[in-house]
Amino acid sequence: MRFGGRVAIVTGGASGIGAAFARRVHAEGAAVMIADLDVERGQALAAELGERAAFRSVDVADAAALETLAADTAAAFGGIDILYNNAGIGCYGLTPDLAIDQWRRVVAVNLDAVFYGCRAVIPYLKARGGGAIVNTASASGLHADYGFTAYNAAKAGVINYTRSLAIDHARDGIRANAVCPGPVDTPILTSGVDAIPGLRAQWEQVVPAGRFAQPEEIAAVAAFLASDDASAVTGAAIPVDGGLTAH
Ligand code: NAD
Repeated sequence: MRFGGRVAIVTGGASGIGAAFARRVHAEGAAVMIADLDVERGQALAAELGERAAFRSVDVADAAALETLAADTAAAFGGIDILYNNAGIGCYGLTPDLAIDQWRRVVAVNLDAVFYGCRAVIPYLKARGGGAIVNTASASGLHADYGFTAYNAAKAGVINYTRSLAIDHARDGIRANAVCPGPVDTPILTSGVDAIPGLRAQWEQVVPAGRFAQPEEIAAVAAFLASDDASAVTGAAIPVDGGLTAH
C-alpha cells in the first residue's frame, strides 16, 4: 500500500498508460482523479475502480480546465499528492507539410498542458508539504523519429521542463521526473501502425527487446517515480523503451 492516504491526478487516464497507472496506484491505496477527453472510457474506469475514484472530462490544452480539475480533486479527496501529466497526441508531418494549427495543437496537448497542470497543482502539493510530479515524455524526446516533427519537439520540451521543475521545487519537497516510453501497445500508436500491413513487425525489429511494451510496464515505472521508493530521484528522464535509445 505505497499510496495509502495519497491522492493522484492522472491525465489521459481513460486509456493505455494512464489507465494502467490509475489501476496500479488505486490498487496500492491511492484516491485517483482520472482526467480525459474520452468521457465514456473515463467514466467506465472510474466505475470499475469504485470507491476512491472519480472522472472529469478535461481538455488538457485548456489551462482553466486544469485549474478547475485541481480544485475539484482537492474538494473531492481532501488534497493532492501526485500529478501524472500523461495525456498526449501524435502527429506525422514533415515541416513544410505541417499546418500551423497541427503544430500548435501537438505542442499544446503534449507540452503546454504539462505546464498548465503543474501550475494548477503545485500550490496543492506545497500545502501537503510536498508531492510528486511525473510527466510522460517519450523516447522521441531523447532522440528524433522521422516525420514526427512537432511531437519530437514537444516531448524534448517536456524532458527539460521536468528538469527545471525538479530544480525549482526540490526545496518544496516536490519531486519531478519524466518517463520516456518507446513503442507501447496502445491506441495512440497501434491505430496508425496496425493500419499498414507489416509496419508493426518493422517497428518491433528496431527495438532491441524485439517487441512493443505493454502499458502496465510504463505505468510501473511511473508509479515507482510517484512513490516514496523514489524519494531521492528528481529531475530524471527514464527511458522505458526496451533499449531503443541505447543504440
Ligand atoms: P492512448 O491513446 O491509449 O491514451 C492517450 C489518452 O490521452 C487517451 O485516453 C486520450 O483520450 C487522452 N487525450 C488525448 N488528448 C487529450 C486532451 N487534449 N485532453 C485530455 N486527454 C487527452 O495512448 P498512450 O500510449 O497511453 O499515451 C499516453 C502518453 O504516452 C502520451 O503522452 C503519449 O505521447 C506517450 N507515449 C506513448 C507511446 C506509445 O507508443 N504508445 C510512446 C511514447 C510516449
